[in-house]
Amino acid sequence: MGFYLKLSALVGVTAALFALYMSGPAFSSESLKGARVLVTGASAGIGEQIAYHLARSGAQIVVTARRGNVLQEVVEKCLGLGAQKAVYIPADMAEPADPEKVVSFAVEQLGGLDYLILNHIGPSPFAFWDGDIEHTKWLMQVNFLSYVQMAWKAIPTLEDSKGSIIVVSSMLGRMCSPFVAPYSSTKFALNGFFGTLQHELAMKNSNVTVSICTLGLIDTDSAMEKVRKYTNMTAYPASDAALQIIKAGVTRQSEIFYPWFTYYLINIKDWFPNMSNKVMRSFYSTEPQS
Ligand code: NAP
Repeated sequence: MGFYLKLSALVGVTAALFALYMSGPAFSSESLKGARVLVTGASAGIGEQIAYHLARSGAQIVVTARRGNVLQEVVEKCLGLGAQKAVYIPADMAEPADPEKVVSFAVEQLGGLDYLILNHIGPSPFAFWDGDIEHTKWLMQVNFLSYVQMAWKAIPTLEDSKGSIIVVSSMLGRMCSPFVAPYSSTKFALNGFFGTLQHELAMKNSNVTVSICTLGLIDTDSAMEKVRKYTNMTAYPASDAALQIIKAGVTRQSEIFYPWFTYYLINIKDWFPNMSNKVMRSFYSTEPQS
């Protein structure tokens, strides 16, 4: 197909999809009052902001991450913001028994579960791939296998409540970029697994929905610390990202993109792979900038 034909088709499809995106299902935070929610990776960044949004809506929340002392502070803040209930459980998702233990704890504390928000990630270098297989295996357990374990454990209780699994993924699970080979692999794995699960749950007429959230660059401390040395790309607010993630689950959307243009970047990549790869590389300098 000629370049101009591809371009005009892309513009047409883009305009139609943008209109569709803008007219997404209505969200009411009222529906979260009393909702029973488990949020992972809630001691910092987007997970912490998710917990605060839920708290303002009067939800019942279990938060988890490794650092109990920080989670304690998050819980206190949630209660101050209006959470009906807020408790925490420290857990390390690199430990194979912890993901299921956390789901059991949440179900026990809340008497069931309406939303499972899978958001945590283990720290990973932002650098050329250096052959560290052990780190990649570890990251697969933390960023991918623990999500699968928690989802599988939670499905029976989510089935009872017509609940939702919300998976926080990344643009880097849909297109490749330099410096993030292990991280990107875990996010591609998540999209593959949970995309398949969406089909299988639908084919079984399950009550449970899965929402996959594809995020671009978000201004969390951990992300900024890594990428600022290599790029000046704009980062979007963690609080906004958190709200979009919650909305995706409440409105039972199969996939959302934040910021909105992430969707188009991914599509443009598929349509014009060579040009997109060059542009992607041009965003980064090979040496850290001071
Ligand atoms: P973050 O600020 O680095 O927070 C990560 C969270 O995971 C923390 O609460 C951390 O708490 C927890 N965690 C780390 N290792 C853990 C382990 N072994 N077991 C259990 N919990 C662990 O991350 P973020 O930037 O908010 O990202 C949140 C989500 O958004 C991730 O899924 C990420 O892939 C996605 N995302 C982020 C961006 C971005 O630019 N920020 C872009 C695209 C997608 P402890 O240290 O207390 O354990």
